[in-house]
Amino acid sequence: MDKKTSIFLKKKFKEYYFRHIEAIESPSRIKEREFGYMTFDRIMIRHISFQNSGDMQARILKESPNSVYYSTSFYEEPSLPMHEKGWKGGDFTFDIDADTLSSPCRKDHDKWICRICGMQQVGIKPKKCPSCKGTRIHEINIACGICLDDAKNEAIKLQDILINDFGIQKANIDTFFSGSMGYHLSIANSDFAEANQAVRSDIVDYVSGQAFLPESLGVSRKSSYENMIDRFPSESEKGWRGRIARYLKDQQNREKHMDTQMILTELFQKVGYRKFKLAIEEAAKKSGATIDPAVTTDIHRILRLPGTLHGKTGLLKKRCKNLENFSPLDDAIAFGSDPIKVIVDDSPQFSLMEEQFGPFKSESIELPMMAAIYLLGQDMAKVDE
Ligand SMILES: [Zn+2]
Ligand SMILES: [Zn+2]
Repeated sequence: MDKKTSIFLKKKFKEYYFRHIEAIESPSRIKEREFGYMTFDRIMIRHISFQNSGDMQARILKESPNSVYYSTSFYEEPSLPMHEKGWKGGDFTFDIDADTLSSPCRKDHDKWICRICGMQQVGIKPKKCPSCKGTRIHEINIACGICLDDAKNEAIKLQDILINDFGIQKANIDTFFSGSMGYHLSIANSDFAEANQAVRSDIVDYVSGQAFLPESLGVSRKSSYENMIDRFPSESEKGWRGRIARYLKDQQNREKHMDTQMILTELFQKVGYRKFKLAIEEAAKKSGATIDPAVTTDIHRILRLPGTLHGKTGLLKKRCKNLENFSPLDDAIAFGSDPIKVIVDDSPQFSLMEEQFGPFKSESIELPMMAAIYLLGQDMAKVDE
């Protein structure tokens, strides 16, 4: 990013914070949290602490950074180096990212550039450059309405598992659009606050449906057919057994009145253990939530602060009061429609506030502020001289 563009973005962020500083959310136990931020010169500042939300707001307004973060954990001394902080516990957090899902739209809007030979193509990044076989490949992703909808579905599945299997009240799950690629879910003050990394890792496996086997449903390779129907779960059974049963009933397109125990018995008898196992694995993968395991297990993680701007998009990390109806490319827009001239290097088609923009290639164009900042932040454009 050139100097002129970064100065422009910082100025726009400052103007935004000046008018909306109250909308920045203060995390609970603010004195015990570590804060950090990244400047528009890409310098990361960490190990900051604040006594109260006023101090926090004043600093954000003064610096108007590219990105602001807070620790999901709380510490004795949050401003000391990591090993001296004194870990006391942490929120339970989950991160869902559109670019880890295999949404079909990604081949239309993602792009990669080989750092070695310069080859570039639209589509999902290959493991090796087809031209020079190099592996230093840079990815340029955006998230469109379609893959963000897919990410939202993962968040809805995760909410369902947290509520029904862990007994967490819906009101205690804070759900946010991340400002760019997906969703963050966070549970403060839960029974899991003091859970260590191993426990958190088990919970990741549970919510993502990993390691669920036919044996958990009551059948094995050598299973006899006797009483099989009684071993299978009913549709209303809680936890993963019921979830798998409901998924398979849906997928088999069976009549509503048929019970899942009958459906599963017929399926097992028809396809045998090996294919049944594959069907179960598929059902577990599809019914579980695809999350970034590192965010949940890493207790020293910092996450974007709710109510702040994402430096790459100019969109807000925004609380979803009603996730089902939340529309990130409308509801998280921070900047308005004042026209501004930018020089776009290369951009796929994207849409904000139901208006479509691009694709653009090496052109000087006037755009509404929200669209200009969306491209400037991702280094796809620069401000016109
Ligand atoms: Zn190459
Ligand atoms: Zn997409």
